[in-house]
Amino acid sequence: RAKELEVFPKQRRILFLVNPKGGVGRAKTISDTIVKPMLEHSGLEVTEQYTEYARHAVDIAHKLDLNTFDALVVISGDGVMHEIINGLLSRPDWDLARRLPVGVISAGSGNAIATSLGTRNQYVAALAAIRGETAKMDIFSMSQLDRPRIYSMLLFSWGMTADADLESDRYRWLGPLRFEIAAFVRMIRLRRYPGKVYVLPPKDDDTSMLPPTPPCSPDHAAPGIRHGSLLRNPDQEPPKSWRLLDLPYYTFFLLLNHPSLTEDVYFTNEIRFNDGIMRLWYSCETTFWKILMPFVMDQQNGKLVERGLMTGIKCGGILIVPGVEGNPDDPSTHAIVDQSVTSTAAKKQEIYTKPGFFDVDGEAMPTTRTLIEILPSFVEIIVP
Ligand code: ADP
Ligand code: MG
Repeated sequence: RAKELEVFPKQRRILFLVNPKGGVGRAKTISDTIVKPMLEHSGLEVTEQYTEYARHAVDIAHKLDLNTFDALVVISGDGVMHEIINGLLSRPDWDLARRLPVGVISAGSGNAIATSLGTRNQYVAALAAIRGETAKMDIFSMSQLDRPRIYSMLLFSWGMTADADLESDRYRWLGPLRFEIAAFVRMIRLRRYPGKVYVLPPKDDDTSMLPPTPPCSPDHAAPGIRHGSLLRNPDQEPPKSWRLLDLPYYTFFLLLNHPSLTEDVYFTNEIRFNDGIMRLWYSCETTFWKILMPFVMDQQNGKLVERGLMTGIKCGGILIVPGVEGNPDDPSTHAIVDQSVTSTAAKKQEIYTKPGFFDVDGEAMPTTRTLIEILPSFVEIIVP
């Protein structure tokens, strides 16, 4: 701790990244009417920068001079938070960059991270940025063959929730309602997502942490995993210690790092962002009302996962192999089955054209063989 304090003596210089396109487009107003007036009296040295294109925040964080700023705060949603973490961790000096305190002032659609941290209110979030109190936060690391790793602060999802999240992107003017409408549509037009999922069970007795290896190293040696059974790359066949989940397909599949899924859906109180544990919820339920019911009845009480819709497990690592077995070059092997399509011709069309999304913090990633690990207490987040 003392050493870190030496690196960042005090948070006096903050870079604010404002995404004018986040959520319903209120970031500029929030910055001008809430954040700036509060900061005027704080005595902090503040720089404001607007993001000018999608993923601009990745580039900014990647090139940021760590000697110039003591904290990076986004005025946007979970997507731009995702971008700055991925920008910071793809740097050659990632081990220093990961200690830069990052924060969020809500101006997005879902705002799950801020809601989970208790800083959904923008005044509270701005005050937190001024005070500069931080906590260490776990993140997920996602590896796909021959691609750079991707990091997640909030969630990895596949199936119904992933499609609803990403398909609703063009309705962002609806605010958080966009998720609810898209999820409802996806529940009515429910698809099945075939694939194999292997899970490394966590070892309860071992709480030791391995030191992190460079995130950009292609030959990653399982940073943070509690025992030595992690795969060296996503292409490797998992050994016996990994359990193959016994479902042929999924409808619901979610890894979550925070208790809230969106600002309106308090998913579970079983998660803390620094508990070092990866939790997976999944289901193959296809009955419309059984899927809908928990989201209606238990949206806000943290008991959504207790309704029996989904199975929840703790894990040390996950390998997902989407699609059905066969020739990997045949697009139909990555197909999903859309139940609502009845005519054979239409069904074929649907089956052969839609692979479904992998959703990482609200951003799409290729739906292909993916290895997921947890990096405990890996980044520094500004807390109230
Ligand atoms: P939301 O919660 O509404 O999705 P995000 O923080 O996820 O809010 O931001 C939404 C998207 O906006 C991100 O994918 C980001 O890359 C993109 N973005 C950022 N700046 C701009 C810009 N100037 N023009 C267009 N898109 C942008
Ligand atoms: Mg987003």
